[in-house]
Amino acid sequence: MYHQIVAAPPKGAAFRSLCVSPRAFGRQMAWLRCLGYRGLSMSALMPYLKGERTGKVVGITFDDGYLNNLQHALPVLRHHGYSSTCYVVSQQLGKTNEWDCEGGVVQTPLMDASHLRQWLAGGQEVGAHTRHHVRLTQADLPSAREEISLCKAELEDLTNSPVQHFCYPYGDYLAEHVAVVQSVGFESATTTQRSRCQANEHLMQLPRVPVLRTTSLPLLWLKLATAYEDRRRP
Ligand SMILES: [Zn+2]
Repeated sequence: MYHQIVAAPPKGAAFRSLCVSPRAFGRQMAWLRCLGYRGLSMSALMPYLKGERTGKVVGITFDDGYLNNLQHALPVLRHHGYSSTCYVVSQQLGKTNEWDCEGGVVQTPLMDASHLRQWLAGGQEVGAHTRHHVRLTQADLPSAREEISLCKAELEDLTNSPVQHFCYPYGDYLAEHVAVVQSVGFESATTTQRSRCQANEHLMQLPRVPVLRTTSLPLLWLKLATAYEDRRRP
């Protein structure tokens, strides 16, 4: 689970830890390759999650749809022949991460429709992250349903390709939201629950492994190759 691929904002800035520098990201992808892993989008990962195929693979996801993913991550991903999924907020395209305003987070440009098409043309995938980056548990159920289903429809319209993977904003959801995500036809949904995916994982509540600004290469190895992250599961 990545967010921004950009040089870190000044010390003390909110969510600074979610900014992985382009150089660090490049080293991390090269490191994955050295270790024999292939980096995959959620669609490409599905056969492994379902137990239909085995292999040394990692899913690569980016939350929120930052333009810096296209600028700094895409060239690296292409270089290694990796795919990834970027979860975007359909009503914020071409704007900034305004949902973070209250937290005093530096506003960062998000991809617009033409950027998303470049992302797809580069062999990457677009996933859904609601229309307005809402906290689903604080919305009434009809609005939550709209946020989930219209995001899918709007993105499919814009990109002319299926949008089959969802990510819960803030990792915040209840059982009824899982049911909605499943009923509108998503094939997977990711959370902020920390762990590697195990066999028979619930496909609509997949855990992830966070990669932060401070994640060193040895720590990345611990996170992927050992039970380091799995132990953080409640
Ligand atoms: Zn988000």
